Amino acid sequence: KKYVKYVQCACMTAAESLTTRLPKAGETIIGHKFFVGFGGKGANQCVQSARLGAKTSLICKVGSDSFGNDYVDNLKKNGISTAFVGQTTDAATGTASIIVNSEGQNVIVIVPGANLLLNFEDLKRASDVICKAKVVVCQLEITPAVSLEALKMARASGVKTLFNPAPALADLDPQFYTYSDIFCCNETEAEILTGIPVGNLEDAEKLVIVTLGAEGCMMISGDEPIPKHVPAGKVRAVDTTGAGDSFVGALAFYLAYYPTLSMEEMIRKSNCVASVSVQALGTQSSYPYRKDLPQDLF
Ligand code: ATP
Repeated sequence: KKYVKYVQCACMTAAESLTTRLPKAGETIIGHKFFVGFGGKGANQCVQSARLGAKTSLICKVGSDSFGNDYVDNLKKNGISTAFVGQTTDAATGTASIIVNSEGQNVIVIVPGANLLLNFEDLKRASDVICKAKVVVCQLEITPAVSLEALKMARASGVKTLFNPAPALADLDPQFYTYSDIFCCNETEAEILTGIPVGNLEDAEKLVIVTLGAEGCMMISGDEPIPKHVPAGKVRAVDTTGAGDSFVGALAFYLAYYPTLSMEEMIRKSNCVASVSVQALGTQSSYPYRKDLPQDLF
């Protein structure tokens, strides 16, 4: 089987409680709503790609627990190959416990759990999928060295690499620039990363994309000194959570399936997909399916 896209990533179960105010240390309060959702940047991106019609495989690790089982089911329901989704008894499925008060302020505890156990051996087992993909997408929610190794394996086989440096690390290994064909981050991440010696663009990544929320994106290309603004359409946003992952997932889809489009056109189309996601609540639950999108996006 030849996978056209592969995302190597983190899976997280997000448990969210809505309360009128945040509890103080040692306090127990009563909330009014609780829900569990699927998250993790890599998994979100993979789900968006799959909903656009990409053939995807996810390389990740979850726990041998109910959250992990539910996660595997969720990936299968989205048509994502789970051949390289490992389940371990050594750690729990990654979780994000979120409390949100009525002003929208939140406190979040992330426990990466099984995500941090994804290792070089797991990559080796999946090397066929990595090396035969059209596009490999990586983020930083797993051990950074494992993400970097996946980018190197892909690059060595001539596979296009899309790297999303999220969550941002102030001391990111400069090799991430070398092994990324496309480096896509949001404004906050760009700010944290600017302390890094990138060197000359021509010997680093070919293209940097900075997403700007409602403003769309800036693209900075190695061969063009002037950054280009690619605006997003005006929409009524109700929940922008996960918009960045919708954008990255869409971009991976266009890179794999429409490689002859210009980068600007791919970014414009990815903006359209992400701007649909902000018009619905939730993260993966807000990601559009191909059938629900304007057909001129395909
Ligand atoms: P998040 O962390 O919430 O996933 P992010 O900060 O990584 O988001 P943003 O830069 O906020 O990512 O948004 C990513 C893309 O989503 C934008 O480039 C744009 O295409 C689309 N988008 C986000 N917010 C809006 C909006 N209000 N209106 C239209 N499009 C939007």
